[in-house]
Amino acid sequence: MKVLVPVKRVIDAYVKVRVKADGSGVETANVKMSMNPFCEIAVEEAVRLKEAGIASEIVAVSCGVQQSQETIRTALAMGADRGILVTSDQPLEPLGIAKLLKAIVDKEQPELVILGKQAVDNDNNQTGQMLAALLGWPQGTFASKIERQDGELKVTREIDGGLETLTLKLPAVVTADLRLNEPRYASLPNIMKAKKKPLETMTPEDLGVDVMPRLTVVKVTEPPARQAGVKVADVSELVSKLKNEAKVI
Ligand code: AMP
Repeated sequence: MKVLVPVKRVIDAYVKVRVKADGSGVETANVKMSMNPFCEIAVEEAVRLKEAGIASEIVAVSCGVQQSQETIRTALAMGADRGILVTSDQPLEPLGIAKLLKAIVDKEQPELVILGKQAVDNDNNQTGQMLAALLGWPQGTFASKIERQDGELKVTREIDGGLETLTLKLPAVVTADLRLNEPRYASLPNIMKAKKKPLETMTPEDLGVDVMPRLTVVKVTEPPARQAGVKVADVSELVSKLKNEAKVI
């Protein structure tokens, strides 16, 4: 089974994000970028499926600026077999990305697409769902466990009330949640080997996809600063403050 794993280049999760002075977005110049953490989990799951003899080939795809090839190289160092970079200098929205991914799915014919459940830059949580809708494929979002069973896929999902188990007919789209696995670190020899793995580059025009933005960002602002806490002398003072000041009990 061929597995496609879309991976996104985002501001590193440990960087303190700064809003641009004009409120048009966040600073990305000279900021450390990394693979979106949920995409790392998606790659790890694909690699485990390959190690278990279930997946035969893993293709990592990234859409964005030229430097997104570093994100693909990370996926290759973790165990993906080859990469596809769709270059675009203009900001891409989930619908545009889902259309690009659909065009790649049409070309590559994978049986499974594993995405991250969301990208931690915009927290959209939309691309996987949109891709499944465009393809007309079943989807298992927020997966915390994936098992292959009699030609189908059993996906355990994290939902508000607990866990839900779905059986999906293949081909299918799955999005990875935090507890699906713990991604491996790429070893130095694998990072070196990844440099030699094939990486194909194309543009949205090559794929016949219009990625014109449909959304306008009105304003980006910092969240309100948190107020400093106070120390209370004892439990009765705490209860009194919760009751009379915070009014939560
Ligand atoms: P989002 O819908 O933006 O929260 O992203 C969810 C998932 O879609 C990510 O974890 C990736 O697997 C995939 N994805 C989003 N944007 C891109 C991109 N530019 N290139 C490749 N995959 C992406």
